[in-house]
Amino acid sequence: MAKYTESKCRLCRREGMKLFLKGDRCYSPKCAILRRPVAPGQHGTTRKKLSEYGLQLREKQKTKRIYGLLESQFKTIYERAEKMRGATGENMLRLLELRLDNIVFRFDLGKSRAQARQIVNHAFLTVNGRPVNIPSYTCKVGDVIAVKGNKKGSKLFEEFKSAKKINLPKWLEFDVEKLEGKVIALPQREDIDLTISENMIVELYSR
Ligand code: SF4
Repeated sequence: MAKYTESKCRLCRREGMKLFLKGDRCYSPKCAILRRPVAPGQHGTTRKKLSEYGLQLREKQKTKRIYGLLESQFKTIYERAEKMRGATGENMLRLLELRLDNIVFRFDLGKSRAQARQIVNHAFLTVNGRPVNIPSYTCKVGDVIAVKGNKKGSKLFEEFKSAKKINLPKWLEFDVEKLEGKVIALPQREDIDLTISENMIVELYSR
C-alpha cells in the first residue's frame, strides 16, 4: 500500500489551515501554520484567485488529508457513499467517521489520526471480541471496540488513563477504565466538528 511520506505540515500550509495531523505539536507555538502561514514552494507567497474547480479540488484534498487517506481510498469511500440512500456528501462523511482508525482517534486513544492508525495496525484492538488490525474497517452501530487484554498495560494507555477528560462525540461512548468503547448511533452531520463543505466534493466528482 502506498504511503504519504512527506512533511505533514506542508499539507496544512497547502490548505492554509490547521489540519491537526501531528498531535500535541499542532497545539503548540511550533505549529508550522503559526510560524509560516504561506503555501509551500517557491510561489507560496503569491495568492491566486481559485476557479470554482480549484475551490472544489481544495475541499476534497483538505478532507482527504484530514482523514489521512490516499486518493484511491478516498474515491472508494465516495463511490460507496454514492450507492447509499440519502445525501452522498453526508454519507461520505459518515463513512469516514466510522472508519476504525477515526473512531480510535475520537476515543482520544491516539493523539492524531496517524497515531490512531498505528494503534490499529499494531493489533492492539478487538471489535466485538475479535482482533481487527484494518484501519479502514467500517464500524457499525452496536460495535464494541476494546483494547486487547494483554495490551492494556502498555505505557501508551497508562498515560491515556491519567490524562484529561475525553471529549467524545455523542454517537460514541467510552469507558476509560476498561479501555472499551461502543458505537451507539450513526454520526449525523452536526456531530462532525469539521469545517468541510461536502457538497463541493460531490460537485467535483459529478463533473
Ligand atoms: Fe498542521 Fe499540526 Fe503541522 Fe500545525 S503542527 S502545521 S496543525 S500538522
